Amino acid sequence: MKIRVGLTKTPKAKPAPGQKLGFGRIFSDHMFVMNYKTGKGWYDPRIVPYGELSLSPAAMCLHYGQTVFEGMKAYYGEKGEIRLFRPDQNFARLNNSNRRLTIPHIDEELCLEGLKKLIQVDKDWVPHDQGSSLYIRPFIIATDPMLGVRPGDEYLFLIITSPSGAYYESGLAPVKIYVESNYVRAVRGGTGMAKTGGNYAASLIAQDEAHKQNYSQVLWLDGVEQKYIEEVGAMNVFFVLDGEVVTPELHGSILPGITRSSSIQLLRDWGLNVSERRISIEELDKANDEGRVLEAFGTGTAAVISPIGELRWGEKKMIFHGGSIGQLTQRLYDTLTGIQYGRLPDPHGWSVVVTE
Ligand SMILES: *Cc1c(COP(=O)(O)O)cnc(C)c1O
Repeated sequence: MKIRVGLTKTPKAKPAPGQKLGFGRIFSDHMFVMNYKTGKGWYDPRIVPYGELSLSPAAMCLHYGQTVFEGMKAYYGEKGEIRLFRPDQNFARLNNSNRRLTIPHIDEELCLEGLKKLIQVDKDWVPHDQGSSLYIRPFIIATDPMLGVRPGDEYLFLIITSPSGAYYESGLAPVKIYVESNYVRAVRGGTGMAKTGGNYAASLIAQDEAHKQNYSQVLWLDGVEQKYIEEVGAMNVFFVLDGEVVTPELHGSILPGITRSSSIQLLRDWGLNVSERRISIEELDKANDEGRVLEAFGTGTAAVISPIGELRWGEKKMIFHGGSIGQLTQRLYDTLTGIQYGRLPDPHGWSVVVTE
Protein backbone atom coordinates (compact mmCIF):
# COMPACT_ATOMS: atom_id res chain seq x y z
CA MET A 1 0.00 0.00 0.00
CA LYS A 2 1.31 3.42 -0.89
CA ILE A 3 1.54 5.98 1.90
CA ARG A 4 0.24 9.34 0.74
CA VAL A 5 1.87 12.47 2.20
CA GLY A 6 0.05 15.77 2.70
CA LEU A 7 2.18 18.46 4.31
CA THR A 8 0.94 21.25 6.55
CA LYS A 9 0.77 24.76 5.12
CA THR A 10 1.02 26.26 8.60
CA PRO A 11 4.00 24.68 10.39
CA LYS A 12 4.16 25.50 14.10
CA ALA A 13 7.18 26.98 15.84
CA LYS A 14 9.41 24.19 17.11
CA PRO A 15 10.54 24.17 20.73
CA ALA A 16 13.79 26.08 21.20
CA PRO A 17 16.92 24.22 22.32
CA GLY A 18 17.01 24.19 26.11
CA GLN A 19 13.25 24.81 26.39
CA LYS A 20 11.52 22.69 29.07
CA LEU A 21 9.51 20.14 27.13
CA GLY A 22 7.94 18.06 29.88
CA PHE A 23 6.15 14.93 28.69
CA GLY A 24 3.37 14.57 26.12
CA ARG A 25 2.26 18.21 25.94
CA ILE A 26 3.71 19.43 22.66
CA PHE A 27 2.86 17.75 19.35
CA SER A 28 4.69 17.77 16.04
CA ASP A 29 3.28 19.08 12.75
CA HIS A 30 2.08 15.79 11.26
CA MET A 31 0.45 12.48 12.11
CA PHE A 32 0.03 9.10 10.45
CA VAL A 33 -3.55 7.95 9.88
CA MET A 34 -5.11 4.80 8.40
CA ASN A 35 -8.75 3.63 8.27
CA TYR A 36 -10.37 0.24 8.60
CA LYS A 37 -13.76 -0.99 7.53
CA THR A 38 -15.02 -4.57 7.74
CA GLY A 39 -14.94 -6.10 4.26
CA LYS A 40 -12.39 -3.57 3.05
CA GLY A 41 -9.56 -4.03 5.57
CA TRP A 42 -7.07 -1.29 6.44
CA TYR A 43 -6.93 1.41 3.77
CA ASP A 44 -5.62 4.85 2.87
CA PRO A 45 -2.43 5.03 4.96
CA ARG A 46 -1.41 8.69 4.94
CA ILE A 47 0.59 11.41 6.59
CA VAL A 48 -1.49 14.49 7.22
CA PRO A 49 -1.15 17.72 9.22
CA TYR A 50 -1.59 17.11 12.97
CA GLY A 51 -5.08 18.20 13.90
CA GLU A 52 -8.35 17.40 15.55
CA LEU A 53 -10.39 14.33 14.70
CA SER A 54 -14.00 14.43 13.73
CA LEU A 55 -15.90 11.64 15.52
CA SER A 56 -19.54 10.84 16.08
CA PRO A 57 -20.53 11.33 19.74
CA ALA A 58 -21.73 7.72 19.44
CA ALA A 59 -18.25 6.50 18.38
CA MET A 60 -17.79 3.16 20.12
CA CYS A 61 -14.36 3.93 21.60
CA LEU A 62 -15.88 6.78 23.63
CA HIS A 63 -18.33 4.46 25.38
CA TYR A 64 -16.86 1.00 25.72
CA GLY A 65 -13.13 1.62 25.55
CA GLN A 66 -12.23 -0.48 22.54
CA THR A 67 -8.78 1.10 22.21
CA VAL A 68 -5.15 0.00 22.19
CA PHE A 69 -1.91 1.98 22.20
CA GLU A 70 1.86 1.77 22.16
CA GLY A 71 4.68 3.95 23.48
CA MET A 72 8.13 4.30 21.98
CA LYS A 73 10.81 6.94 21.33
CA ALA A 74 13.05 8.34 18.59
CA TYR A 75 16.47 9.69 19.57
CA TYR A 76 19.16 11.80 17.94
CA GLY A 77 22.35 9.75 17.74
CA GLU A 78 25.94 10.93 18.02
CA LYS A 79 26.34 11.40 14.28
CA GLY A 80 23.10 13.31 13.73
CA GLU A 81 21.14 10.19 12.77
CA ILE A 82 17.67 9.48 14.16
CA ARG A 83 17.22 6.12 15.91
CA LEU A 84 14.35 3.94 17.04
CA PHE A 85 14.71 1.17 19.64
CA ARG A 86 13.18 -2.20 18.71
CA PRO A 87 10.12 -0.69 16.96
CA ASP A 88 9.22 -4.11 15.51
CA GLN A 89 8.52 -5.25 19.08
CA ASN A 90 6.08 -2.39 19.64
CA PHE A 91 4.04 -3.17 16.53
CA ALA A 92 4.08 -6.90 17.36
CA ARG A 93 2.80 -6.08 20.86
CA LEU A 94 0.16 -3.80 19.37
CA ASN A 95 -1.14 -6.80 17.43
CA ASN A 96 -1.23 -8.84 20.66
CA SER A 97 -3.27 -6.09 22.27
CA ASN A 98 -5.47 -6.00 19.14
CA ARG A 99 -6.20 -9.72 19.45
CA ARG A 100 -7.36 -9.31 23.06
CA LEU A 101 -9.54 -6.30 22.21
CA THR A 102 -10.94 -7.85 18.99
CA ILE A 103 -9.38 -5.07 16.91
CA PRO A 104 -8.27 -6.12 13.41
CA HIS A 105 -4.65 -7.14 12.91
CA ILE A 106 -2.36 -4.45 11.45
CA ASP A 107 0.42 -4.93 8.91
CA GLU A 108 3.42 -4.39 11.20
CA GLU A 109 5.80 -3.58 8.34
CA LEU A 110 3.45 -1.01 6.83
CA CYS A 111 3.08 0.67 10.23
CA LEU A 112 6.85 0.80 10.70
CA GLU A 113 7.22 2.27 7.21
CA GLY A 114 4.55 4.86 8.08
CA LEU A 115 6.32 5.69 11.32
CA LYS A 116 9.68 6.14 9.57
CA LYS A 117 8.08 8.40 6.99
CA LEU A 118 6.38 10.43 9.70
CA ILE A 119 9.68 10.90 11.52
CA GLN A 120 11.42 11.92 8.30
CA VAL A 121 8.71 14.51 7.63
CA ASP A 122 8.90 15.80 11.23
CA LYS A 123 12.62 15.23 11.78
CA ASP A 124 13.09 18.80 13.02
CA TRP A 125 10.75 17.93 15.91
CA VAL A 126 13.16 15.37 17.34
CA PRO A 127 14.80 17.31 20.18
CA HIS A 128 18.59 17.48 20.49
CA ASP A 129 18.99 18.24 24.20
CA GLN A 130 20.75 15.62 26.32
CA GLY A 131 18.33 12.84 27.34
CA SER A 132 15.42 14.26 25.33
CA SER A 133 13.52 12.28 22.69
CA LEU A 134 10.54 12.31 20.38
CA TYR A 135 7.87 10.27 22.18
CA ILE A 136 5.81 8.21 19.72
CA ARG A 137 2.23 7.19 20.39
CA PRO A 138 0.62 4.72 17.96
CA PHE A 139 -3.01 3.94 18.84
CA ILE A 140 -6.22 2.45 17.47
CA ILE A 141 -9.82 3.40 18.27
CA ALA A 142 -13.19 1.92 17.24
CA THR A 143 -15.17 4.68 15.52
CA ASP A 144 -18.53 3.10 14.53
CA PRO A 145 -21.38 5.44 15.49
CA MET A 146 -23.27 2.69 17.33
CA LEU A 147 -24.25 2.21 20.95
CA GLY A 148 -24.64 -1.58 20.87
CA VAL A 149 -21.92 -3.53 22.64
CA ARG A 150 -20.04 -5.52 19.99
CA PRO A 151 -16.65 -5.36 18.26
CA GLY A 152 -16.43 -2.37 15.91
CA ASP A 153 -16.57 -2.49 12.12
CA GLU A 154 -14.70 0.78 11.69
CA TYR A 155 -11.38 1.82 13.18
CA LEU A 156 -8.78 4.54 13.01
CA PHE A 157 -5.08 3.82 13.46
CA LEU A 158 -3.00 6.89 14.25
CA ILE A 159 0.56 7.76 15.19
CA ILE A 160 1.19 11.08 16.89
CA THR A 161 4.56 12.28 18.16
CA SER A 162 5.57 14.57 20.99
CA PRO A 163 9.00 16.07 21.71
CA SER A 164 9.69 15.24 25.35
CA GLY A 165 12.35 16.20 27.86
CA ALA A 166 14.72 13.94 29.76
CA TYR A 167 12.80 11.86 32.31
CA TYR A 168 15.39 12.62 34.99
CA GLU A 169 16.14 16.32 34.82
CA SER A 170 19.09 16.08 37.17
CA GLY A 171 20.37 12.57 36.49
CA LEU A 172 19.10 9.13 37.42
CA ALA A 173 17.27 9.34 40.77
CA PRO A 174 15.58 6.70 42.97
CA VAL A 175 11.77 6.68 43.19
CA LYS A 176 9.46 5.96 46.11
CA ILE A 177 6.65 3.55 45.35
CA TYR A 178 3.46 2.67 47.23
CA VAL A 179 2.45 -1.02 47.39
CA GLU A 180 -1.28 -1.11 46.60
CA SER A 181 -3.20 -3.62 48.72
CA ASN A 182 -6.76 -2.44 48.13
CA TYR A 183 -7.32 -1.94 44.40
CA VAL A 184 -6.08 -4.38 41.76
CA ARG A 185 -4.87 -3.69 38.22
CA ALA A 186 -5.49 -6.93 36.39
CA VAL A 187 -6.29 -10.60 36.78
CA ARG A 188 -5.32 -13.59 34.71
CA GLY A 189 -7.73 -13.79 31.78
CA GLY A 190 -8.32 -10.04 31.90
CA THR A 191 -6.58 -7.36 29.84
CA GLY A 192 -3.41 -6.88 31.91
CA MET A 193 -1.13 -8.03 29.09
CA ALA A 194 -2.61 -5.53 26.63
CA LYS A 195 -1.88 -1.82 26.39
CA THR A 196 -5.52 -0.77 26.43
CA GLY A 197 -7.01 2.42 27.85
CA GLY A 198 -9.27 0.76 30.42
CA ASN A 199 -6.32 -0.63 32.40
CA TYR A 200 -5.05 2.88 32.99
CA ALA A 201 -8.47 4.39 33.72
CA ALA A 202 -8.97 1.75 36.40
CA SER A 203 -5.59 2.51 37.96
CA LEU A 204 -6.01 6.27 38.38
CA ILE A 205 -7.66 6.13 41.78
CA ALA A 206 -4.77 4.17 43.31
CA GLN A 207 -2.24 6.51 41.71
CA ASP A 208 -4.14 9.49 43.07
CA GLU A 209 -4.17 8.08 46.61
CA ALA A 210 -0.46 7.24 46.41
CA HIS A 211 0.34 10.79 45.23
CA LYS A 212 -1.48 12.21 48.26
CA GLN A 213 0.96 10.30 50.44
CA ASN A 214 3.94 11.53 48.44
CA TYR A 215 4.60 8.34 46.50
CA SER A 216 5.13 8.81 42.78
CA GLN A 217 3.79 5.44 41.64
CA VAL A 218 1.96 2.29 42.66
CA LEU A 219 3.27 -1.29 42.82
CA TRP A 220 0.46 -3.70 41.94
CA LEU A 221 0.03 -7.08 43.58
CA ASP A 222 -1.73 -10.01 41.91
CA GLY A 223 -5.47 -9.54 41.54
CA VAL A 224 -6.52 -12.77 43.27
CA GLU A 225 -4.57 -13.11 46.52
CA GLN A 226 -2.93 -9.67 46.55
CA LYS A 227 0.20 -11.44 47.60
CA TYR A 228 2.52 -11.70 44.59
CA ILE A 229 4.32 -8.75 43.03
CA GLU A 230 3.15 -7.84 39.53
CA GLU A 231 4.41 -4.48 38.22
CA VAL A 232 4.35 -0.70 38.59
CA GLY A 233 1.94 1.62 36.66
CA ALA A 234 4.01 1.66 33.48
CA MET A 235 7.10 -0.28 34.52
CA ASN A 236 8.10 -3.88 35.13
CA VAL A 237 10.08 -4.55 38.31
CA PHE A 238 13.33 -6.34 39.13
CA PHE A 239 15.08 -7.23 42.39
CA VAL A 240 18.71 -8.26 42.90
CA LEU A 241 18.16 -10.98 45.48
CA ASP A 242 20.47 -13.72 46.78
CA GLY A 243 22.98 -13.24 43.98
CA GLU A 244 20.49 -13.42 41.14
CA VAL A 245 18.05 -11.05 39.47
CA VAL A 246 14.38 -11.83 40.06
CA THR A 247 11.45 -10.44 38.07
CA PRO A 248 7.81 -11.59 38.12
CA GLU A 249 7.05 -14.11 35.38
CA LEU A 250 4.64 -13.13 32.60
CA HIS A 251 1.41 -15.05 33.04
CA GLY A 252 -1.24 -12.86 31.42
CA SER A 253 -1.86 -10.05 33.88
CA ILE A 254 1.53 -8.33 33.51
CA LEU A 255 2.41 -6.10 30.55
CA PRO A 256 5.36 -7.68 28.69
CA GLY A 257 7.71 -4.68 28.57
CA ILE A 258 10.25 -4.32 25.80
CA THR A 259 12.64 -2.65 28.26
CA ARG A 260 12.02 -5.69 30.51
CA SER A 261 13.00 -8.21 27.84
CA SER A 262 15.99 -6.07 26.76
CA SER A 263 17.16 -5.85 30.39
CA ILE A 264 16.86 -9.62 30.87
CA GLN A 265 18.92 -10.14 27.71
CA LEU A 266 21.68 -7.74 28.83
CA LEU A 267 21.82 -9.20 32.35
CA ARG A 268 22.18 -12.69 30.88
CA ASP A 269 24.85 -11.41 28.44
CA TRP A 270 26.76 -10.25 31.52
CA GLY A 271 26.64 -13.75 32.97
CA LEU A 272 24.01 -13.04 35.62
CA ASN A 273 21.26 -15.44 36.50
CA VAL A 274 17.82 -13.96 35.81
CA SER A 275 14.89 -15.80 37.32
CA GLU A 276 11.39 -15.06 36.03
CA ARG A 277 9.24 -16.38 38.83
CA ARG A 278 6.51 -15.58 41.32
CA ILE A 279 7.76 -13.46 44.18
CA SER A 280 5.52 -12.45 47.05
CA ILE A 281 5.73 -9.12 48.82
CA GLU A 282 6.33 -11.05 52.08
CA GLU A 283 9.29 -12.87 50.56
CA LEU A 284 10.77 -9.58 49.37
CA ASP A 285 10.24 -7.91 52.74
CA LYS A 286 11.80 -10.77 54.67
CA ALA A 287 14.78 -10.96 52.30
CA ASN A 288 15.26 -7.21 52.56
CA ASP A 289 15.13 -7.34 56.38
CA GLU A 290 17.84 -9.98 56.22
CA GLY A 291 20.00 -7.83 53.94
CA ARG A 292 19.60 -10.17 50.97
CA VAL A 293 18.11 -7.62 48.54
CA LEU A 294 20.89 -5.56 47.00
CA GLU A 295 18.98 -3.49 44.46
CA ALA A 296 15.49 -2.85 43.13
CA PHE A 297 14.57 -1.14 39.87
CA GLY A 298 11.78 -0.64 37.34
CA THR A 299 12.00 -0.84 33.53
CA GLY A 300 9.89 1.02 30.95
CA THR A 301 10.22 3.20 27.86
CA ALA A 302 9.56 6.47 29.70
CA ALA A 303 12.32 6.29 32.32
CA VAL A 304 14.23 3.33 30.77
CA ILE A 305 15.52 2.24 34.21
CA SER A 306 14.20 3.64 37.50
CA PRO A 307 16.04 2.81 40.71
CA ILE A 308 13.51 2.00 43.46
CA GLY A 309 14.69 3.62 46.68
CA GLU A 310 11.67 2.82 48.83
CA LEU A 311 8.61 0.57 48.81
CA ARG A 312 5.90 1.45 51.29
CA TRP A 313 3.84 -1.62 52.23
CA GLY A 314 1.19 -0.87 54.83
CA GLU A 315 3.06 0.61 57.78
CA LYS A 316 6.35 -0.80 56.59
CA LYS A 317 9.00 1.04 54.58
CA MET A 318 11.38 -1.17 52.65
CA ILE A 319 14.53 0.73 51.76
CA PHE A 320 16.76 -0.64 48.98
CA HIS A 321 20.44 0.11 48.54
CA GLY A 322 20.19 2.73 51.28
CA GLY A 323 17.78 4.69 49.08
CA SER A 324 20.51 5.30 46.50
CA ILE A 325 21.27 3.87 43.05
CA GLY A 326 22.71 0.36 42.87
CA GLN A 327 25.65 -0.56 40.66
CA LEU A 328 23.76 -2.98 38.41
CA THR A 329 20.86 -0.52 38.07
CA GLN A 330 23.27 2.20 36.93
CA ARG A 331 25.05 -0.17 34.54
CA LEU A 332 21.76 -1.22 32.92
CA TYR A 333 20.67 2.40 32.56
CA ASP A 334 23.99 3.43 31.02
CA THR A 335 24.05 0.45 28.65
CA LEU A 336 20.44 0.70 27.46
CA THR A 337 20.56 4.48 26.93
CA GLY A 338 24.00 4.06 25.34
CA ILE A 339 22.55 1.65 22.79
CA GLN A 340 19.46 3.81 22.24
CA TYR A 341 21.48 6.97 21.51
CA GLY A 342 24.06 5.05 19.47
CA ARG A 343 26.93 5.73 21.88
CA LEU A 344 27.60 2.04 22.57
CA PRO A 345 27.84 -1.09 20.41
CA ASP A 346 24.49 -2.73 19.69
CA PRO A 347 25.24 -6.48 19.72
CA HIS A 348 21.61 -7.54 19.28
CA GLY A 349 20.78 -5.10 16.48
CA TRP A 350 18.10 -3.33 18.53
CA SER A 351 18.61 0.15 17.06
CA VAL A 352 16.92 1.08 13.80
CA VAL A 353 18.29 4.14 12.03
CA VAL A 354 15.61 6.28 10.37
CA THR A 355 17.71 8.92 8.64
CA GLU A 356 21.40 9.41 8.06
C1 LIG B 1 4.14 0.17 28.70
C2 LIG B 1 4.11 -0.50 30.01
C3 LIG B 1 5.24 -1.11 30.58
C4 LIG B 1 6.62 -0.99 30.00
O1 LIG B 1 6.77 -1.47 28.71
P1 LIG B 1 7.98 -0.99 27.80
O2 LIG B 1 7.78 -1.71 26.53
O3 LIG B 1 9.22 -1.38 28.49
O4 LIG B 1 7.84 0.49 27.69
C5 LIG B 1 5.08 -1.81 31.77
N1 LIG B 1 3.89 -1.90 32.37
C6 LIG B 1 2.79 -1.30 31.87
C7 LIG B 1 1.51 -1.45 32.59
C8 LIG B 1 2.87 -0.58 30.68
O5 LIG B 1 1.79 0.03 30.20
